[in-house]
Amino acid sequence: GEEFRAEEYFYEILKRIEEKEEAIHAYITLLKVEGMENARQLDKRIRNQENIGRLAGVAIAIKDNICTKDIETTCGSHILQGFKPPYDATVISNVTREDGIILGKTNMDEFGMGSSTEHSSLGPTRNPLDLELVPGGSSGGSAAATVSGEATLSLGSDTGGSIRCPAAFCSAVGLKPTYGLVSRYGLIAYSNSLEQIGPISRSVRDTALLLNIIAGYDPLDSTSVNYPKVDYEESLNKDIKRLKIGVPKEFLQKGTDETVSKAVWKMLGKLETEGAIVEETTLQSFEYALAAYYTIAMSEASSNLSRFDGVRYGLNSGRVSQEWGKSFSSIRGRGFGSEVKRRILSGTYALSSGYYDDYYLKAQKVRTLIRKDFEDNFKRFDVLIGPTMPILPFRFGEKIEDPFQMYMCDIDTVPANLAGLPAISVPCGFHGNLSIGAQVIAPPFREDLVIQVGYNIEKLSNKNGGL
Ligand code: GLN
Repeated sequence: GEEFRAEEYFYEILKRIEEKEEAIHAYITLLKVEGMENARQLDKRIRNQENIGRLAGVAIAIKDNICTKDIETTCGSHILQGFKPPYDATVISNVTREDGIILGKTNMDEFGMGSSTEHSSLGPTRNPLDLELVPGGSSGGSAAATVSGEATLSLGSDTGGSIRCPAAFCSAVGLKPTYGLVSRYGLIAYSNSLEQIGPISRSVRDTALLLNIIAGYDPLDSTSVNYPKVDYEESLNKDIKRLKIGVPKEFLQKGTDETVSKAVWKMLGKLETEGAIVEETTLQSFEYALAAYYTIAMSEASSNLSRFDGVRYGLNSGRVSQEWGKSFSSIRGRGFGSEVKRRILSGTYALSSGYYDDYYLKAQKVRTLIRKDFEDNFKRFDVLIGPTMPILPFRFGEKIEDPFQMYMCDIDTVPANLAGLPAISVPCGFHGNLSIGAQVIAPPFREDLVIQVGYNIEKLSNKNGGL
C-alpha cells in the first residue's frame, strides 16, 4: 500500500491547527517550521530504508513547564517570558530519540496552579468539545490540542490532577505514573514530592505506547526509581475476569454530581458483566486529603518559586539594580499572577516557625495515613475505581473568583499524588457534550493494571476519546 510520509502527515496536522487554534488556543509556542523540517529529514531516512523509531512522524505537544532546548518555556507565566532552557528534559530526549516530532508547547495554568487553564497569564484555552467550557487544568492545552487533532499525542504533568482533570473534561485518556517511574529532569518544579510527567492521548493504546517510551530510570533525577522495564502495550490483550475492583464510597458521596456518579456506576456494572468483581470499600482519611495536598503543594511551591527573581531567567533577566530587594519585589510583583502569589504567601506561612508543626508537619502525617489507607485496600483489591472529577466540565468564570471552589475540584485526584500511585482517567460517558472520566488507581508501579482496566473501560464505553 501507500507508504507513510511524515511530511504529508505533519502538513495535515498543521492544517488542523490553522482551522482550530484561533478558537481553542491550545498552544503558547508552535514549531511549524522546525517540525516540518524534522518530518522531511525523517522521510529522507525512510526513503533510505534506515531504521526509524517507534514514534516516527507522531506530532507531540509538550506542556510548557517541560524544558525544551533553545525553545521558550514559560510555565504559562510572565515571569519566564523569553526563557530558553539550555537543555532538554529527559522525556524530550526520550521522545525525539524515537523520532517523535515536537510540535509545540502547550498552554497551562501558571506554574500548574489551577484546574481550568484560566490561570494562564497568556489567556485561557477552550474546550474543543464546547468552546464555552473550560478544558480543565492545569495541562488544558495538551488535552485540548490532542482531542482537537492539533497534535497526535501530548505530554502533561500532574501534581494533584493536572493530567487527569483535563483528560476527563476533554474526553481524552490521561495517565499519571507512579512517583519515580518517569524522569522529572527538566520539569520546572511546582511541588516536586507530588508531581510526575505523563501522557495525554486519544486512546489507551496511545497511552501505553507513549508510557513505554518515557518510563525508565534516569540518573539525572535523584527520585527516579530503577524499576524493571515493563511492556505496557502487553496489557492491552488482557481481559478483566476475576479482577477485584474496589469502589471507595468517599469518591461518590455528597458533593459529587449525580450525573457523574451514575455514569461511573453504569460503567462499573459493565465491568461486572465482563467478569470483574466489584465491591464498595472505604478510604478512611480521604476527607483530609485535599487540605493536606494544598498545604504540601503550596509549601513546596513557595520554596521552588523563590528562584524566579529576574536575575537568572526570564522577565528582565540580568537587569537588576543595586537595590536588590526592591528589584526582586518589583519583578516578582509584575511577573507572577494572583493565584501564584496567593500560594507563595500561604506556603511561606505554613512553613514559618511556630506554624510549621501545625500545618506542614500535620499534612505530612495525613499523607502517611492516606498511603496506609491505599495499602490496606490493595491487600483486598487489584485496583480502585471512582470518578476523575466530582463535577462536569464548567463554564469560564464560574469558579475563578472563589479559589476554594476551584481547589474542591481536585478532591478525587489528589489522593493518588499524596500516595505516589499510578492513576488513569478514561472517558466513560457523556452528558450532552459534557465529558465524564473514570479514574483507575493501582498499587505502585502497576501501570500495567491501570492500562489493562482502562482499555476495557474504553472498549465498553464505545468511545475512543477523540472527536
Ligand atoms: N489543581 C491542582 C493545583 O492547583 C493540581 C494542579 C496540578 O496537578 N499541577 O494544585
